[in-house]
Amino acid sequence: MNQRIFNFSSGPAVMPLPVLERAREEMLAIDGAGMSVMEMSHRSARFGEILENSEAGLRSLLAVPANYQILFIQGGASLQFSMVPMNLLAKGSSADYLITGAWGEKAIREAKLFGQVKEIYSSAAVRFSRVPQQDEVSLSADAAYVHYTSNETIDGVEFPYDLDGGGIPVVCDASSNILSKPIDINKFALIYAGAQKNIGPSGVAVVIIRDDLLERIPDGLATMFDYRSFAGNDSMPNTPNTWAIYLIGLVCDWLMEQGGLAGIAETNRRKAKVLYDAIDSSDGFYQGCADRNARSLMNVTFRLQNEDLENEFVSQSEAAGLDGLRGHRSVGGIRASIYNAFPEEGVHRLIDFMDGFAGKNV
Ligand code: PMP
Repeated sequence: MNQRIFNFSSGPAVMPLPVLERAREEMLAIDGAGMSVMEMSHRSARFGEILENSEAGLRSLLAVPANYQILFIQGGASLQFSMVPMNLLAKGSSADYLITGAWGEKAIREAKLFGQVKEIYSSAAVRFSRVPQQDEVSLSADAAYVHYTSNETIDGVEFPYDLDGGGIPVVCDASSNILSKPIDINKFALIYAGAQKNIGPSGVAVVIIRDDLLERIPDGLATMFDYRSFAGNDSMPNTPNTWAIYLIGLVCDWLMEQGGLAGIAETNRRKAKVLYDAIDSSDGFYQGCADRNARSLMNVTFRLQNEDLENEFVSQSEAAGLDGLRGHRSVGGIRASIYNAFPEEGVHRLIDFMDGFAGKNV
């Protein structure tokens, strides 16, 4: 029955098998409720418990302090590209953006629709292969906030540190590395992430926002674009994505069983290390795209000598049960997304495949 293959998709991405198994068990009727979660009123006491459990799971894993709200909002991470400036970029103020890849570019493009923004760093000239050191980041003294992307999913670069805003509120798109390692939430004013990589299925974004930011929001925003509508109504100004929220709770339970974020971080480091080692020891047959000190532990990007060889690599890997290795269409190359739920065994299978492929094609 288990015909699962190794799924390197960048998102929606592989879910932990025990989570899927438990969801299957509870699909028709969750303990005592006599119905599936997806059939249940979002206003019911039972769903209230489910939502609370998911929020508590995230709060505990990420050690989110009491002065931060955890919100579940539809519209994906992309809606946050707009909601952040709508809520936090007051008239006459300006926000700083660090651009280290394709998603940061989208975020700033969207923010420009709502107010003044400054691109204070960009690695576009080096094809998004690096991220700045903290001391290269020079923030505007009067910035309303600074926005950065902690892991660029397409380019495969990740900040190895949490950005210090030095008093300027830090807003972070952590869509593709949230829950992959412990972070210090106190360094952030707002963190957002589409769920479909490390948190759960697509269709919901998690937003973690510090209370004082809610007080800065201008009046007059449409209800569904105003963070206060979610903060003041248990994330339910309207019908939320109940099924996704339920699954998030199961993913959190699974992560606790992996030793929490410290435990999963250790596994993630090990998985990424062996894969990068395989790239580095291939005598140039495989070439990593990112600078060594900016290498993503979640999305490992590399190239072969030419596109024909890359196409051959992808088709042969698919035949070998390794799915989703083609790089994003905008950049090409190969990308192995190895999020939390991606099994270590699959990384070793990929390395064996890479060794064999290089042996036949040098
Ligand atoms: N930011 C990052 C870093 C992403 O990887 C993605 C999606 N892959 C997005 C934003 C956009 O997310 P969504 O599709 O949920 O809008």
